Formats: sequence, structure tokens, C-alpha cells
Amino acid sequence: MLALDTALTKVVGDRTAKAMADELQLHTVRDLVRHYPSRYARRGEMTRLTDLQVGDRVTVLGQVRKVDTRPMKNRRGSITEVTVGDGEGSMRLVFFNHKHARLAVGAWGLFAGTVSSWHGQLQFNHPDCQLLDESTDADEWATAMLPIYPASKSVSSWVLQKSLKLVLDSPAAADQLLAADPVPAPVRRRHGLMALARAIWLKHHPETPDDVERADHRLKWDEALVLQVTLAARRRAASLEPGIARPRRPGGLADAVDGLLPFDLTDGQREVGEALAAEIGREQPMHRLLQGEVGSGKTVVALRAMAQVVDAGGQAALLAPTEVLAAQHARGIAGLLGPLGRAGELDGDAEGTRVTLLTGSLRTAARRAALAEVADGRAGIVVGTHALLSEGVEFADLGLVVVDEQHRFGVEQRDRLRAKGQRPPHVLVMTATPIPRTVAMTVYGDLETLTLRQLPAGRGGVSSSVVPVREKPAWLGRAWERVREEVAQGRQAYVVCPRIGDDEPAGEGPDDADGAPAGDAERRPPLAVLDVAEQLRGGPLAGLRVEVLHGRLTAEEKEARMRAFAQREVDVLVATTVIEVGVDVPNATVMVVMDADRFGVSQLHQLRGRVARGKHPGLCLLVSEAPVSSSTGVRLAQVAATTDGFELARLDLETRREGDVLGAAQSGRRSGVKLLSLLHDEELIAAARSEAAGLLETDLGLAEHPELAAAVAALNAGDRADWLERA
Ligand code: ADP
Ligand code: MG
Repeated sequence: MLALDTALTKVVGDRTAKAMADELQLHTVRDLVRHYPSRYARRGEMTRLTDLQVGDRVTVLGQVRKVDTRPMKNRRGSITEVTVGDGEGSMRLVFFNHKHARLAVGAWGLFAGTVSSWHGQLQFNHPDCQLLDESTDADEWATAMLPIYPASKSVSSWVLQKSLKLVLDSPAAADQLLAADPVPAPVRRRHGLMALARAIWLKHHPETPDDVERADHRLKWDEALVLQVTLAARRRAASLEPGIARPRRPGGLADAVDGLLPFDLTDGQREVGEALAAEIGREQPMHRLLQGEVGSGKTVVALRAMAQVVDAGGQAALLAPTEVLAAQHARGIAGLLGPLGRAGELDGDAEGTRVTLLTGSLRTAARRAALAEVADGRAGIVVGTHALLSEGVEFADLGLVVVDEQHRFGVEQRDRLRAKGQRPPHVLVMTATPIPRTVAMTVYGDLETLTLRQLPAGRGGVSSSVVPVREKPAWLGRAWERVREEVAQGRQAYVVCPRIGDDEPAGEGPDDADGAPAGDAERRPPLAVLDVAEQLRGGPLAGLRVEVLHGRLTAEEKEARMRAFAQREVDVLVATTVIEVGVDVPNATVMVVMDADRFGVSQLHQLRGRVARGKHPGLCLLVSEAPVSSSTGVRLAQVAATTDGFELARLDLETRREGDVLGAAQSGRRSGVKLLSLLHDEELIAAARSEAAGLLETDLGLAEHPELAAAVAALNAGDRADWLERA
């Protein structure tokens, strides 16, 4: 009798079972029934085959129109050419020395192969064929939806289809599916969802597109609910592990910081600050995502929270993604605190604390001194890069971890950081890239979100334009004139390039995971900082003070050049994306992004944020060779047209694959998410989230819902849930 846990070796032959396991990771009946068709073949598709690329592996449905066998010219043997069509379109199948008695004119079949082209016509060489049941009326194929399964080298779509038929026709398996429904009956009733067994059946045997849609909706619920229960359970578990309450103390560093700020806090900063202060004051470890537009003033919010923790006797760590940014934060905070940040020094204030910078590039002596301050607790505010997480770094009493600019944190790293506190520290993750609600609910599902919507008053704002150099070559010259004009007014400029130059190893430059289109090998290499700086100095920007900044400089060099720029000793900084995040020079008002199409949407938004930081209006010019009407050109125009971070986040999500967002290339296998779309299923995910919360509230441990509990356990088994942590 077939059961869901039955090994596929009991269903199909050993060889096929092994291939299914090795090539498709299908081991049991359960895996097989969840191996969904990737599409459904219907008649009339061949006309669209022209969209196919040579090299694609596809399966098509067609009718044999012509069979022609002849001897080969230069070799022994014969060649058989079969023309198949599906109405309007047709393609050719080529077989060598093959007997295809059944490939008779009029027969319908599925043909799978790798698309090649011969004299301009698409063809399959030696395709796999599956002739359809001859007893069926040909008209039926006109409307039928034949499931096409993700196949592999030795497991074809129809082998999968046959195996599934064996399974789904077995009443025992159907009964088990009925019983194994992870979505509890009351939830199904509330949302009008069909039973799992029915959905699985329909997904594999739909008669209409509507069947597929209804089955998908129901199956997505499985995925969303299991995911959301996992996340809710994790939030709950984290909240049960006590941390240390660090309530706000009047008259301490936190009050001093407020007194020292050269500006009034915005209402948003004040509100968010109060929420954080209250949570840090509780024993339950805080877990917050602070999302705020570029320039909305997140750093100050973080500093106030850090000061509160210092006042309560703890230490706070601020983690930055780059050395440039870490150094800038340390400098900014130390500058603001003045003597209060130099406790223990001659001119320091004994009431204050110490601000300590810890990065990988510190020299041995400086590093040793920094480590000592961190370990004995003199350093209340520790700013650093990933180096903070390394073995030798010990804190006396780590009370708060602030992660700036959306660091990608692995589960091990988070645990390592947690372990550095005697009890779990409070955690604040800050990001300038607004996160679509669905992503916040899934990828960031264990972080509750706070949002800073308001920018500090008196900001000039930034306007953006695309400079399409192919179509409007003169505009580039105009762009450099604009740079000269701004510099003449006492302002400064950035020029950003995707590459450093001089054949650097890959690594810096646009981050593909961030949505930059995959590089086309045929394209010229991206423009490089060193080349562009050279050309500008000798040409359009001659006479200006042009400096370069990139990741290959030493930390001291980078630091020195950033400082020179901040002190207006440099007019134009030609840089890679090292300036992408957080760099704060309010006097810089123009940015020219070269090869803008090589950057992802959120990267461009981040970059542009560098020139929207002061009272003067900013200008961002996106220079690209992409044709205005190409999809890339359209994307750039969209970026230029809006500064609404939420709209851009959506655009970003559209231009990258879901798998990237979920943090694993094979998200389907790893996360259990096959059908759910972060882009299109916002409502469903929100509903599942609220159901998950309800289920855990009344039924902790899911005792009443063993099937749901089992599905959650399966998701959490091994490393499968890791991606959830990469927030
Ligand atoms: P982001 O949120 O992008 O990290 P920052 O914290 O770097 O932004 O702040 C951007 C700039 O705005 C900084 O120069 C900061 O000093 C300034 N700033 C922050 N809050 C205010 C405020 N309430 N009023 C005026 N300027 C502010
Ligand atoms: Mg910042």
C-alpha cells in the first residue's frame, strides 16, 4: 500500500528512483506529489517557440505532419526528419538511424529536446518523444492541458507524469493526503480553501486554467502558513529567553547626547526613539528592524539607544558594512560627544564613556588597545565592521547590537554575536532600503518593523535624470558642465563607476544579488574608476581637484581621502560603490553614475542618497548606453522618476528573482516555497501571518494540529531554515 512516506523505489524501478533522488531530490511519495508541473502544454504554443533561445530545453505538444527518411550523404545510415505542428507553428525533429514506426502522420505527441537552429528554423536533434493515446480524439488535444514537469537528464516529464498517476490513482495515498493537510480545517473554512488532496489532484490534472489557479491558491496557503508559523514560533522563543533590562536613566549620557545635538529631532525620530527606549528598558530582548529613507537620520536614533544602554552600565556595538562607514560613524559619534567620548583621557569627562573603533585593518598595537577597552568595559560604544564578530573580541557586558545598513547576517554570525553578551543583547537592524511588506513578513519575519518616514526639515531633495549616451551623446558633456557649475558654487560631486580598473579581481562593483542585470559576456567591460578619473582630469573636469576612492586602497588611504572630501579639499570624488552606504557629506550635491545600468535598483537609490543630505537640492545623473526603450532603459527611467523608497523596493523585487530575495538560489528546495510569490501574494501572506499568530496564541506547540506541526518541523530540520535568519 502506498503511503506518503513510501520510498519511490517502491513506486518506480530502482534506476528511475535513483535518478529521481539524485537529479531531482525526490525521495518519497510526498516529494513526488509536491513536484508540481512548471507549466501546462496546450495546443497553439508552437507559434511562441520563436521566443525560445537556442539551447533552451523544452517540451512541446504537437502533431506529426510529415515524416521523411533518407540515407545520409557522406556516411552510412539514415536521417529522419519529422515536421510537427500545432496549428500555426511548426518545428523539425531530426533523428539519425532511428526507426520511428509510430511517428506516423496525424499522431499527437509530446516532444522534448534542446532547441537548436538550422537554416533559420528551430529544431530538436534526437528529441524524446511521447506519443499520446491514439484512441483519443485529436480535438481533445486542442483543449487539453498536459502537465509539463521540471525534468532532468534521465527523468523525463512523462516518466514523472506516469509515476504520479500511479500514486494519485492509489486510494490509500489520496486518503493520506486528505489526512495530512497542514492547513487546519477552521482555517480552510475561513478562507474558502479546498482540501489538500483535491488541490494536489487538480494541480496535476487540471482541465482549465481556473483549476490551476484555485489549486495554486490553496497550495500557496500551505507554504505561507508553515512559513509564518515557523517565524511566529521563533519570535516567541526569542522573547522567552530573557535578556537584561536597560531602562533609561535621566541625567546620563543619553540626556547629554540630546543636549549636544545641533538640531531638533524630527517627530519620527522622537517617536521611534521612545518605542526603542521602552523596549530596551525591558528584560525581553528587543528585536527591531528600523527602516528609514536614506538621510532620514537613523544614526541619531541608534546613538540615543546606545547611550541609554551605556547609562544602564552596558556596552553597545554598532556594526557597519564597510570600513569607510565604520570610521565615519566612529568619527561622527566621537565628534558629537567630545570629552564625553574620551573618558579616561586627560581631557576626557569621567562621566562619559569611550568610543572605540574596531576594524580588520587596525595595526597590532591599536588593535590590542581597542580589544582591551572592549573587554574591560571602558568602551561603552564600540563601532566596527564584521571584525567585531571574530573570536578574540570579548565584551564586558554587551547590551545592544545595532546593525547598520542591512548587513547580511548569517545564523552563525547572529549566534556568535549573541554569545558575546552574557544574556541575549537587544538587537536593532537599520536599513535604508525600504522592504516590501511581504519581505518584511517573511525574510525579515522575526524582526518587527519600525519606520522613519519623515526626512529632517530643510532638505533640498534630489532630482534624477537618465543620460542615454547612445541617443543623446551631447547630454554627457552637459552633465560635466553641471558638475563644474556646482563646484563653482562651492559644492562637491561624486562620480560612480562599476569597476576599479587595472584588472581588479571580481568582487567590488555592482552586486548581482542586488538586482543588477546579469553581465552579458559580449558587452564591453564596465567603466573603471581609474580610467574615468584620468579622462576627467585631462578633459571635461580639468582644473578641478579630482580624487579617487575604491576598495583596493588601504583603510588609512580610504579614511584620508574621505576626510579630505569631507573637508572640501577635494571637489570631485570618483569612486566605486564603497560610497554606496551611509557616507555623509552634506555639501556634495551632484552625482554622476557611469554605466548606471550595471547597478541594481536599490543600489542606485542608495547611491543617490549621498547627494540628498544637505539643504541644497541634489542632482543625480544616470549615464547609460542602454537604449531608452529597452527594459534596462525603462528601469533606469523608473528609478529617475521616483524617490519613493517603497515604490523602488517593489521595482527592485520585480527585477530580481524571488530566490535571491529569499536568500538562497534554490529557494524552492530550501525554504519549502515553490509557488508563493513575495511580489504577488501580499494579501495571502498577511492572512497567513495573522492565522499563524492566532494558532500559536491558543495552541502553543500546535498540539491540536499535528500535521501543521510536522510540516513546520520539516522546514526547520537541518539547515533548511537558515535562510530565514539571513536578515
Ligand atoms: P541615514 O538615515 O541615511 O543613516 P543619517 O543618520 O546619516 O541618515 O543622517 C543624515 C544627515 O542628517 C546627517 O548629517 C545627520 O546629522 C542629519 N540629521 C539627522 N537628524 C536630523 C534632524 N532631526 N534635523 C536635521 N538634520 C538631521
Ligand atoms: Mg546611515
